[in-house]
Amino acid sequence: MTEIQLVRRPSGAPTADLFAYVETEPPTVRPGTALVQNLLLSVDPYMRECMDAEWELNASLEGRAIGRVIESGTPELGPGDLVFHRQGWRTHALVTPAEVRKLDDLPGVPLSAHLGILGGTGLSAYVGLTRIAKLQPGETLFVTAAAGGVGTAAGRIAKLLGAGRVIGSTGSTAKAKYLTEEVGFDAAFSYRSGPIGELLADAAPDGVDVCLDNVGGEHLAAAIDVLRPRGRIAWCGAVSSYDHQAPAAPSNLYEVVGKQLRLEGFLVREHQDARPELYDFLTPYLRSGEIVSDQTIVPGFGSMVDAFLAMLRGENVGKMLVEL
Ligand code: NAP
Repeated sequence: MTEIQLVRRPSGAPTADLFAYVETEPPTVRPGTALVQNLLLSVDPYMRECMDAEWELNASLEGRAIGRVIESGTPELGPGDLVFHRQGWRTHALVTPAEVRKLDDLPGVPLSAHLGILGGTGLSAYVGLTRIAKLQPGETLFVTAAAGGVGTAAGRIAKLLGAGRVIGSTGSTAKAKYLTEEVGFDAAFSYRSGPIGELLADAAPDGVDVCLDNVGGEHLAAAIDVLRPRGRIAWCGAVSSYDHQAPAAPSNLYEVVGKQLRLEGFLVREHQDARPELYDFLTPYLRSGEIVSDQTIVPGFGSMVDAFLAMLRGENVGKMLVEL
């Protein structure tokens, strides 16, 4: 069994030397526990925030994972069961039944989708659009970090909900092309190709009704500028600020008053009750092939740290996962 530990805290952008791969004794399966071999591990932007204080140094890290039970001391879990749990960043995990969610076998749906469009990633997009922004058919939507896990899920879900024009911002023209050609966005641009306010105003000449914001700062300021009066913002994240190089807050926040906008932040962990609704909604579309769970899968546990850093640099399209 090998696990990855944080050994020093970052200053600015994190680097690989802040982590160490540590070999540990395989855990003993006691009554009431089961040993899981991890198959897929998730790397997520919130983990950059955890590196500042929340994660202990030289200790096991948490993260979303899917694994297979290989030995069990509890009748609730049997060898071969596929489970979701939160003991990521390691090859094996000792779990109790209360710590895991058994995954249903969904023929035609790849296992990775349970960490992608059906996982916390897709749930964030779904909750942001349906519960927070209450997106209505025909409305214009702007999504930031649109080519990532939450962003691609938001684009696909919005179209299934009957959205009108869907616009996305991302970090390269290749990713913008992927959004319009593969995901179904009506317009997309690279925020590196000019001032984001101008790029967004060009893409949304008639304004925007709803913004799902994953980036914060200048992206959120641009959204506030183009939102129509009484528009809504579901504020999901502020990835541009996690390295402390840029402020999360937009410079034009007070426009929220004059335009009578609604800006609401949310945490997906407070909306776990929406998960069955998400599965019921999306599974038929995934089975029929009408949609896919956009993903970048990096092979090998030894690539975990590099995959995490690459995701923060924007080298992923869709949900970034590591396959063991
Ligand atoms: P992701 O979008 O798949 O990956 C992160 C992306 O952020 C990168 O691909 C990169 O794409 C972009 N990025 C990095 N630095 C940036 C910068 N300085 N400016 C603009 N874009 C930058 O990650 P995700 O898991 O789907 O998460 C997306 C957002 O949702 C994050 O803010 C995350 O914290 C948030 N989130 C919130 C919740 C919640 O409960 N509220 C739950 C899940 C995720 P580019 O090539 O476009 O730069």
